Amino acid sequence: MLTTNTDTSEINLLNKIAVEYSRTDLEKMREYSTLADSISSTSGYAYGKAEGLRILGVYYMRKSDYSTALQLLRNALTIFEKAKSLDGKANCLLGIGATYNQTGNNDSALIYFQKSLDFWLKAGAANKERIAATYNNIGLIYRKTGNMPLALEYYQKSLLLKEEIGDKAGAGDTYNNMGVIYRFINAHDKAIEHYKNSIKLRKEIGYEIGVAMGYNNIAIAYSEIHEFDSAVFYAQKALDINLRLNNIRGLAHNYNLLGDVYLKNNELNLALEYFIKGKKYAEESGNKQVITSCDIGIGEVSFKHHDLKQAYLYGNLAFIKAKEMSDKSLTWQSSKLLADACAAMGKYKEAYEFQLIYKAMSDSIQNDASTKKIIGLEYDYKYQKDKIEQEKIRLEQQARLTRQKHIAVSFIIAFCLLLFLAFYIFSSLKHKQRDFRIISDQKLEIENRNKLLNSQKEEIQTQNELLQQQAKMLAELSDMKSHFFANISHELRTPLTLIISPLLQAIETHNCDKATLDVMLRNAKKLQEMIDELLQMARLEKGAVEMHPECADLNALVKDVVNSFEGIILEKGIILETEGIENEYMYSFDRAGIEKVVTNLLSNAIKFTPRGRRVKLTAFLGNNDYMLCVSDEGIGIPEGETGNIFDRFYRASNSRNVSGTGIGLSLVSDIVTLHGGTIKAGNSAMGGAEFIVKLPLNRIMVDKINETSEDPAEFHITNTGKKPKSDTTPAYTLLIVEDNHDLQNFLASSLTGTYNIVLADNGKAGLQIALEQHVDIVVSDVMMPEMDGYALTKAIRNHHEICHLPIVLLTAKSSEESLITGLENEANAYITKPFSLTYLKAVLTNQLKIRDKLRTRFQKELLVIPSDITTTSLDEQFISNAIKIVEDNIHNELFSVDDFCNALLMGRTSVHRRITAITGLSSSDFIRTLRLKRAVQLLKGKVATISEISTMVGFSDVSYFTKCFKKQFGSTPTDYQSKN
Ligand code: ADP
Repeated sequence: MLTTNTDTSEINLLNKIAVEYSRTDLEKMREYSTLADSISSTSGYAYGKAEGLRILGVYYMRKSDYSTALQLLRNALTIFEKAKSLDGKANCLLGIGATYNQTGNNDSALIYFQKSLDFWLKAGAANKERIAATYNNIGLIYRKTGNMPLALEYYQKSLLLKEEIGDKAGAGDTYNNMGVIYRFINAHDKAIEHYKNSIKLRKEIGYEIGVAMGYNNIAIAYSEIHEFDSAVFYAQKALDINLRLNNIRGLAHNYNLLGDVYLKNNELNLALEYFIKGKKYAEESGNKQVITSCDIGIGEVSFKHHDLKQAYLYGNLAFIKAKEMSDKSLTWQSSKLLADACAAMGKYKEAYEFQLIYKAMSDSIQNDASTKKIIGLEYDYKYQKDKIEQEKIRLEQQARLTRQKHIAVSFIIAFCLLLFLAFYIFSSLKHKQRDFRIISDQKLEIENRNKLLNSQKEEIQTQNELLQQQAKMLAELSDMKSHFFANISHELRTPLTLIISPLLQAIETHNCDKATLDVMLRNAKKLQEMIDELLQMARLEKGAVEMHPECADLNALVKDVVNSFEGIILEKGIILETEGIENEYMYSFDRAGIEKVVTNLLSNAIKFTPRGRRVKLTAFLGNNDYMLCVSDEGIGIPEGETGNIFDRFYRASNSRNVSGTGIGLSLVSDIVTLHGGTIKAGNSAMGGAEFIVKLPLNRIMVDKINETSEDPAEFHITNTGKKPKSDTTPAYTLLIVEDNHDLQNFLASSLTGTYNIVLADNGKAGLQIALEQHVDIVVSDVMMPEMDGYALTKAIRNHHEICHLPIVLLTAKSSEESLITGLENEANAYITKPFSLTYLKAVLTNQLKIRDKLRTRFQKELLVIPSDITTTSLDEQFISNAIKIVEDNIHNELFSVDDFCNALLMGRTSVHRRITAITGLSSSDFIRTLRLKRAVQLLKGKVATISEISTMVGFSDVSYFTKCFKKQFGSTPTDYQSKN
């Protein structure tokens, strides 16, 4: 069908209307373009059809249906190509590029934008608006892919065109985009200049929200370079506009920024006020990022106000949200806040974990930052270099022109005015002199610029050094936890001195009176208490503390504790009053735990109460609780700190010059919590502090006492006199490696009935014994001369003849690190001193039981998996090798123990020792057992007759096979086969 003029103009109009609707009503856009497409199809108007398809393609792109969009745009492109329409093609290519941009396929987007640009340029100058848009799009892709210099170049081109055609809105946007890039590459002055240009244009077209955004951007830039006054000035300007327009989204940004600026400037109250406002508006506008940022701000202000709980709370809120949004920077900020807050609260484990996250984020952000810095410097470098090159060319041109001019002038003058010859020479000389001066000035300038470049290089180096320093600082921070324990040990020195000094004196004078002994004993007990507290704290931290409830008279226990303070009360002249502890009161509780609670509260009350004043302990029954109240007339707890004193290591501000560690109350609170109770601190009517413990009632009957009470055996060196008697010879040999002879004797005499004991004074001697004699298990101290316990463990594990030996390490070290070192060395158990002998015995029995179980497993199970029956990798390797060798020779009746040892490349004794240790069998029994296990598998498969199977598994005599089989499995092969 032929197209008429009316048709074409109608179709063109429909397409134009569709384009108009593209900004306001997408569905109308679709309707009109579909109509244009269908009318064009019937009337055969190719251009109109292609344009209709193109617009539809753009519609689908906006609707995020990218595959349909691409298909329609490509169809349109083919038709435009046939119709040889340059601008049609260019428009389609632009659309395809834009679709790829939406899908994040930057490479393809760039290719299509570039192609589109070529066609626009070919299509002619009439399309300046489209060309400017295409430049802008190319700039956008470069920005997204991090090529900032090229992004700037294209934005610049776009800007020139937009300014030329008077597109103020577009130019304003481009200036703003360029500002963002300049900020990104740390060229803040240029960024501010561009933001200002953007604001100017936006003001001209009355785009007020845009102006406010510009001011906010300037404020951010100033805040980044720590020019806080300017930052506040511009943020305020943005704020004024947003308040007037009631622009909620903008207000959230403004307040958050102001909060940030004031926080950086340490004006905490103002900062808090703005963060709270920012959060309110951000919540109203649903801007999660700003909400999270404000939360961090509030947390940081709280941290600086020493309100650690609040800091922790807001840090956590922000951290969770930041993780949800996968926002690197916010995760980084919140984890930093949490690490600081946890560390200050004494939650070292959590602090350490957040520190790790913070460090990982820092590394990643630092990488980004250095990349930015390098891009910035590269850009500056390129910019400076280009400028210098241009300057050089300009100078050369200028010099050439000047020379040409002089020649011409002198020629005319020489011919026309000889009289002025002298003057000419004079003036020419003067000119030359001046030119020379200009050129040398310019040279100087070039040199200066070169210096500038060099100093920028130096700046990069300094940056690198700074990064290294930061890395070091982070590593130091992660050491914080272990250092803390070192600090605490200082507290241990005083009682130690009070034991050691009198002891030395007594040794010197051969004289020691009862009073001195009492001092020593008291301090030794104090030391023990401190160590117990530290150990208990470590266990509580790991959640490894167990309660041992027993039914006993709680009031009697409280009375005992009160009585134990008799001496110190007299010494300090404190009046201790008690009330309500006279009656018997049976209760189920952990004796050691509750004793610690009462002791701690009383000793604190006595410690913080001056001479001559009163301390009062009251016990009574509440509704459903046993209540214990300790109050005093002492220094009290400062306002606002009662909530903190239960935090680990916290010491109130009025008590820092009194000795202490800040551990006691945190332990007390943990123990009370384990009992299901609560503890509260406050200031008492007596003028000092008051602590109220509430234990929920769960009383049990008195006659149950004996069932539940335990008597844990403690380590008492004075009990070593008697050796346990035993009628039978012990089955196992225990090697004790210990340099302290008292302890060595004690262990030997306590364990001698249960084990054959072999003794060594240090690791070296221990290793020698383990290699030369039969030993089943080793108990070793860690700190010893010659070779310590760790080195001994390592040596045993590396020695293939004895690597299977179970090792139990004893040490005075309680820190987690030593535990880890012990386990890394593959010690089987680790016991800290002072230890309970019962516990040590249980550990030894347990270790030997594990060995026995593994051995039985080998003998019982048909299919042996080496890792299931071994505890060390050397053993596993050895046994899997041994099994393989036997299996390879299973049919060979002549395969002997000697052949077996040769194949293992080991001596007969060594092989025997290891095979026995792992499987409990001799080498020949080991081979036979494997043969019989294979026989069972064959019998089950019913693959052959019994006599054939006997030959297949290396038995030449079928009756011997039957005998061995019966011994091993309790039935003859025939019975076995018929049963299975
Ligand atoms: P320490 O007493 O070793 O410092 P605690 O954990 O037992 O450690 O106590 C923590 C802090 O609580 C103390 O440092 C002190 O500031 C405060 N405190 C505890 N009991 C009292 C009390 N009876 N009077 C005043 N302050 C107290």
